[in-house]
Amino acid sequence: MDTTLRIPVPYELFSPTETAHFEGHADLGVLAAGPDEYVFAEPLSYAVDFTNTGDAVLVAGTVDGVATTACARCLEPVEVSLRGSVEGYFLLAPDAASQEGMEGDEFDVLPADKVIDLEPLIVAALLVEVPLVPLCSDDCKGICPECGANRNVEQCACDAVGADDDAPYIMADGRPNPFAALKDFPFDKQE
Ligand SMILES: [Zn+2]
Ligand SMILES: [Zn+2]
Repeated sequence: MDTTLRIPVPYELFSPTETAHFEGHADLGVLAAGPDEYVFAEPLSYAVDFTNTGDAVLVAGTVDGVATTACARCLEPVEVSLRGSVEGYFLLAPDAASQEGMEGDEFDVLPADKVIDLEPLIVAALLVEVPLVPLCSDDCKGICPECGANRNVEQCACDAVGADDDAPYIMADGRPNPFAALKDFPFDKQE
């Protein structure tokens, strides 16, 4: 399977209003999104059109893939289907930007080798689609901060103490607080 994401802009596309279609597969492997990692067991599929707008090559299309990540509460694997909008704008001449009054993050300049690398566009498309907090289900009970039991599958004895006791050990976004293990550390018992 051809998974190259570096696409040479075809010669014909250097005429205004010309368009060219490309599709293929992207082998991203692992996508890091904040504290989460999305693992793609299979290459993603993409389909994009390159269009000459006169000043630039406009890239527009979609990317689809299925990733596995860890539930933020119980850490069990979660499968996430992702479909992102691939967008890019590559100016044919570097000085065209000031004429159009564009901001620096709205465009790229077509490299001298006239090859467009889709990978950063695909990664950007996916990063806006991944969930802020991946969950196996909206009512995932998470892991017990006391004993580490997965509360979706077992009810540990710690529950008897009362759910409110656990609140400080779950952060605002529902993730287990990484410092929970320190809660019994005798900080103020200095000798
Ligand atoms: Zn979960
Ligand atoms: Zn427990």
